[in-house]
Amino acid sequence: ASIFAAVEMAPRDPILGLNEAFNADGRTEKVNLGVGVYYDDNGKIPLLAAVKTAEKARLEAMPPRGYQPIEGPAAYNTAVQNLLFGKDSALIANGQVVTVQALGGTGALKVGADYLKRLVPGATVYISDPSWENHRALFESAGFPVENYPYYEPSTRGVNFASMKAKLEQLAPGSVVVLHACCHNPTGADLSEAQWGEVVGACRERGLVPFLDMAYQGFADGIEPDAVAVRLFSASGLQFFVSSSFSKSFSLYGERVGALSIVTASKDESARVLSQVKRVIRTNYSNPPIHGGAVVAAVLNSAELRQMWEDELAGMRDRIRAMRTGLVENLKAAGVAQDFSFVIQQRGMFSYTGLSVAQVDQLRNDFGIYAVSTGRICLAALNSRNIGYVAKAIAAVVK
Ligand code: PLP
Repeated sequence: ASIFAAVEMAPRDPILGLNEAFNADGRTEKVNLGVGVYYDDNGKIPLLAAVKTAEKARLEAMPPRGYQPIEGPAAYNTAVQNLLFGKDSALIANGQVVTVQALGGTGALKVGADYLKRLVPGATVYISDPSWENHRALFESAGFPVENYPYYEPSTRGVNFASMKAKLEQLAPGSVVVLHACCHNPTGADLSEAQWGEVVGACRERGLVPFLDMAYQGFADGIEPDAVAVRLFSASGLQFFVSSSFSKSFSLYGERVGALSIVTASKDESARVLSQVKRVIRTNYSNPPIHGGAVVAAVLNSAELRQMWEDELAGMRDRIRAMRTGLVENLKAAGVAQDFSFVIQQRGMFSYTGLSVAQVDQLRNDFGIYAVSTGRICLAALNSRNIGYVAKAIAAVVK
């Protein structure tokens, strides 16, 4: 018999399943709000001009394609550090930050999780309730038990910070706490700077291992303000992990460009930690691909291209904001009495709308509008042509 004869079908990824259903839908007015991708006002994934310029130059130069260092090139890793920790960071100057290139934010989380399994094998990992779909599976596949800490409060459509903090203060020392550094996915509800300060305090008091996941730097208020959590942890003297991604901020999803950064207590610790992280990488995919990281490094390390990128990033951020206010206005205009202004307060690409499973079903069946069953919508999938239609459809299902 085949060795595969008894293999069971694994459950489908719920969001990819939604995309398949959307693609099969023949209605021309259909809208996919289930995605986790930024679309421009024409409904296209943008090619940033800064990226295009850097790519053209690379193509002209036709550099040889040897193996990269296991940790990726220094030009890339240093640029990542400057974005996350600030270019004048004392931690960087002291050699306390280890950064390795990774295959997107997901790859960074996986390398971090595998390394943590060697460092603190008995730990439990805590993720927010709810969290990005993949967090639980990823840390479980690295061998950790994964539990939730309270986060989202449906009644306020914000964070239940008192419950979150109370939970953190009860965790066993050495527990790993995964925190969304900004633009919480899926809820859009973020912590304030003061609340971040309290989270840092709780991590210090309980001896927790913070793991910040930064997938949307620049999508809320800007590159620097969105790094507030990283900066507060940096100032705390604690050791912590940061996974980061350029998928969204450079619109380079399929190139898989991200990084894992680990803050240690000293330069000497950094050297030893890096040697162990390299071992994790070496036995997994050996070394990272060249193209995406080279493009990002070229943009970040050129004053001119960097300015171009920052302007384009601001353009994406502003368009999402305009869609947030636009949706709220259009809902009002469509006669919706319910207060949807929370959509304007939420940050990043997503909003937990509070729509029920039945309402999400009705949006799909009656209007060809696809959202995640939790009521999560992607604001970056709205544009000037579909926003009125979407608002009218939501008005019809909430009445
Ligand atoms: N972390 C969070 C919170 C995300 O929302 C995402 C992407 O959706 C990722 C990590 C993964 O990013 P990447 O696509 O770069 O692997």
